[in-house]
Amino acid sequence: MIYFPNTLAFRLTFWYTLVFITLITIAFIASYLSLKKTLNQNMEYDLLEGIVEFKILYKKEGLDGVKREIDRDIKSGEEQNIFYKLLDKNGAQIYSSDLSHWKFLPDNQHIIKQVFSTNKFIYQTIDMQGKTYKAKAIYDLITPDILLFTGESTEKTHDIMAFLSRIFISIILLVIPFSSLIGWLMARHAVKGIKEVSRIASELEKGKLDKRVPISAQGDEITQLVNTFNAMLDRIWILISEMKEMTDNIAHDLRSPLARIRVISELVLSNNNTPQEFKSTASDTIEECDRLLQMINSALDVAEVEADTCQIPKQKINISQLTQDACEIFDAIAEQKHIKLTCRLKNNCQVYGNIQNLQRMLANLLDNAIKYTLDNGQVDVVLTCTEQNIEIMVLDTGIGIPENDQARIFDRFFRCDQSRTHDGCGLGLSFSRAVARSHGGDINLSSSLDKGSCFTIELPKAK
Ligand code: ADP
Repeated sequence: MIYFPNTLAFRLTFWYTLVFITLITIAFIASYLSLKKTLNQNMEYDLLEGIVEFKILYKKEGLDGVKREIDRDIKSGEEQNIFYKLLDKNGAQIYSSDLSHWKFLPDNQHIIKQVFSTNKFIYQTIDMQGKTYKAKAIYDLITPDILLFTGESTEKTHDIMAFLSRIFISIILLVIPFSSLIGWLMARHAVKGIKEVSRIASELEKGKLDKRVPISAQGDEITQLVNTFNAMLDRIWILISEMKEMTDNIAHDLRSPLARIRVISELVLSNNNTPQEFKSTASDTIEECDRLLQMINSALDVAEVEADTCQIPKQKINISQLTQDACEIFDAIAEQKHIKLTCRLKNNCQVYGNIQNLQRMLANLLDNAIKYTLDNGQVDVVLTCTEQNIEIMVLDTGIGIPENDQARIFDRFFRCDQSRTHDGCGLGLSFSRAVARSHGGDINLSSSLDKGSCFTIELPKAK
């Protein structure tokens, strides 16, 4: 059994060669037929022209002149290719050239009668015995009583056409390997990018997620495919890194409360506790469980807001008033730490959105600003409004965020080392940014360590 490689390059080469050869064959057949037709027409025209000459000669020199001309016309060796027959009204032969090579000539009385009665010439194609070619003949009257039946073999035309066919077959035999080679080179070039993609895909299967397909400068569909493939790998890489970091953080943050619950339970088991001590242990356990539940609920809230990115609820909200209310609530907490909380808000700025989520976003930022600012510090809230956007800045003179941590500050469960002594689970900022983005805005940060931080919320203004 013949084995054909099951590859795209092979199939492309095969189809390219097949199409190429089919087109050449069609072109050849069309030229072959048209040339054959032209040569046949020329032959018929020559025969007719010969008859006209004989008619003129008859008028000038009579029957003898015609006979002499027939003898002159048939030079030695030509009698195989040309014949002449003069016939009377009864189809009887008056004169003829040497017909020893034309014994098979038909004695077609029907045509002869028809030409005498209609006075119109008739062409005839005659099979030549033992020959692959035929003869072309004409019947016409040179006088009302004499018919000239003359013909010529098509050997020359046949030779020309056979020669052309041989040339075509030679060309095709040359073209097949040549076009296959060109087709194969083109196909290989075209599928090179795809091969690279599948090579890298099989490397990915082995877990080498950092591999990328080299990009060629051609800018064709394959380059687009490679770009998309690489972009998809980048995205997967980021997602996997994020998930790994998140699971690390979750494991880390869940471990502490669980470890505390375990220690508390062990202590209860190993001591002879009073009912009062049992109560206190139970209350500590409940507190730790609450902390765990809060962490899990917050993580679910972030996921919910992120999943809802496209569906902004269409409720018009006075964000100036909402910010003012938040400032008033946090004023009391700030006072406890002797932190000066000031609000400079442009009045009556409106956004479309979800009031609960916006409240929680503002509360998170204000809570952080107060939490991470030392006593006697300052927190400012400034709301400005442009033609398109609303900007809310929450500035503090707190501990600041190290430059290395700033890029990850909005990641779930991320907490700076310096703030681990404070309460929190690292979900407030990721929730806040998810809310801002679900409203078509964002949150940006600028911060200097030990000097303070500024979180800027941007939201599109309601029209
Ligand atoms: P947390 O519950 O830990 O406050 P967040 O997501 O709100 O969680 O904040 C993540 C981390 O970002 C915090 O643990 C803290 O290290 C840092 N951070 C947030 N806001 C500030 C701020 N205003 N000043 C300094 N650090 C901050």
